[in-house]
Amino acid sequence: MASIFTKIIRGELPCYKVAENETHIAFLDINPVAEGHTLIIPKEEIDYLFDLPDTLLADTILFAKKVALAIDNALGPVRTGVVLDGREVPHAHIHLVPIYSDTQSVSLGRKLDIPGEIMQEIANKIAAEVNL
Ligand code: 5GP
Repeated sequence: MASIFTKIIRGELPCYKVAENETHIAFLDINPVAEGHTLIIPKEEIDYLFDLPDTLLADTILFAKKVALAIDNALGPVRTGVVLDGREVPHAHIHLVPIYSDTQSVSLGRKLDIPGEIMQEIANKIAAEVNL
């Protein structure tokens, strides 16, 4: 069965899209731990990030870099952190978590309740800064 991320990639489920090219997509995490929490996803459905072929893994990191810099420009965090978990959705992905203060923890623990229209605004702001 297709992963939830493959269904989003196919357009069968909605998302707050931030960036897309032939091989990758980035959209906001539906349960954000910070404003602008974004998922970086290779379109090829492989469960474990470190099972990706070397070239695809490298491209995934480079795609993440471009989106992280767009987050930095759009939202002005101190920097953007990275979380790798992958136990909930078996389709490789990288979490980009903007860090707004020195006391903010970068973990997948506490979710924020951000209204849909604000999520869309955040996605639009980041998308406007992405240079693929
Ligand atoms: P992990 O697999 O790294 O533990 O977590 C998967 C992440 O995907 C979670 O942070 C979860 O909120 C997010 N997620 C799960 N289902 C969806 C979905 O349908 N849409 C979006 N945008 N994010 C999702």
